[in-house]
Amino acid sequence: MAVFPPTVSPVYVIGAGPGGLAAAYALRARGVRAVILEKSDDVGASWRRHYDRLHLHTTRRLSALPGLPMPRRFGRWVSRDDVVRYLEKYAEHHELEIVTGVEVSRVEPAPDGDGWLLHASGGRELTGSAVVVATGFNHTPRIPDWPGLDGYGGRFLHAGEYRDAEPFAGLDVLVVGVGNTGAEIAVDLVEGGASRVRLAVRTVPHIVRRSTAGWAAQYNSILVRRLPTGLVDRLARTMAKVSVPDLAAQGLPRPASGLYSRVKEGSIPVLDVGLIDAVRRGKIEIVAAVDGFEDGKVALADGTRVSPDAVIAATGYVRALEGLVGHLDVLDGRGRPVAHGPRTPKDAPGLYFTGYTNPISGMFREMAIDAEKIAKTVAKRVRVA
Ligand SMILES: Cc1cc2nc3c(=O)[nH]c(=O)nc-3n(C[C@H](O)[C@H](O)[C@H](O)COP(=O)(O)OP(=O)(O)OC[C@H]3O[C@@H](n4cnc5c(N)ncnc54)[C@H](O)[C@@H]3O)c2cc1C
Repeated sequence: MAVFPPTVSPVYVIGAGPGGLAAAYALRARGVRAVILEKSDDVGASWRRHYDRLHLHTTRRLSALPGLPMPRRFGRWVSRDDVVRYLEKYAEHHELEIVTGVEVSRVEPAPDGDGWLLHASGGRELTGSAVVVATGFNHTPRIPDWPGLDGYGGRFLHAGEYRDAEPFAGLDVLVVGVGNTGAEIAVDLVEGGASRVRLAVRTVPHIVRRSTAGWAAQYNSILVRRLPTGLVDRLARTMAKVSVPDLAAQGLPRPASGLYSRVKEGSIPVLDVGLIDAVRRGKIEIVAAVDGFEDGKVALADGTRVSPDAVIAATGYVRALEGLVGHLDVLDGRGRPVAHGPRTPKDAPGLYFTGYTNPISGMFREMAIDAEKIAKTVAKRVRVA
């Protein structure tokens, strides 16, 4: 293994989630010094905050990061706590250099034109030969700009603040948004004793069994990646007819547009962990999308007004990269990096991004692959410098 001289400034990795940890390990494995800067006090901060019942939807084996398998005892679908244990172990096992409690606020070209200058909390200014940005796809909760929200008297929270169903036992709860998070929180509320659970749906989702006869949905996602979109749409439609019951009568008809076409537009299917059963049994009621709030009530898109005790907005997250790198002209109209993995934006050589796509093949898996590719490219650059 080539070890680069200590005079070369390190590569800074921003964020100690799975993406940043994997990138730092892969760089180290190629002899490049990588220092992770993490704003919170621990690695895996996002996973520590997720709701209690969360398990990976992707398999243990296909979610391991480079250089350390996940232990068999974690089971096939790894729990949130075991993901956190794994990330802690990963950092320790690979002896990664991590500085916690440091938030990077801005990245700009180094004044001497060589590398990048990072502005971080505590007035720190750090120069790196390259930078890997790994601050997370789910960085900042997104709450739609709903009119009248201020006048709502019930409890209102974003899904990112939801831990378990206990505070909602006996309550009438409206969950807004049927992504994987909204669907799972709705199921959790039913199982946790909420008196009524409604799920507000704007766009009917594709629902896929997490596993069919032992075959994980993630395997299909990987297998079909290079196939034409129309073909995958047809395969998925056939598969859905066989494995997912028609829930049209309950308000969830099969979507008109194909599963893979939707994925290409950035919308991944819902992996079933109880939604189908709860909707079929009437335990989760599907209602129209939320348009806003009026006189303390929730105004739905079909004109009805409902008065739940609590509203949980499972309305996603934003990347929030603007402050960090927005001035470098490296973000697209949706605030996502224009280049990803081993590719860097045209005018920002040495600035890498990992974890800003949402592939159906699994983000842990993709970040593991990207980590190796980024490390290979960086090692080549540093060697040439
Ligand atoms: C509910 C949920 C379930 C998921 N389930 C799966 C799954 O089953 N399988 C799968 O493959 N993927 C899954 N994902 C997607 C993805 O794998 C995870 O979101 C994963 O945590 C992303 O890793 P990351 O390192 O990119 O970001 P994060 O884990 O969010 O880590 C980013 C880190 O950067 C830090 N940070 C942010 N800004 C700064 C800053 N300016 N300076 C310093 N530090 C900063 C944060 O504190 C955090 O520690 C899931 C996501 C969610 C939300």
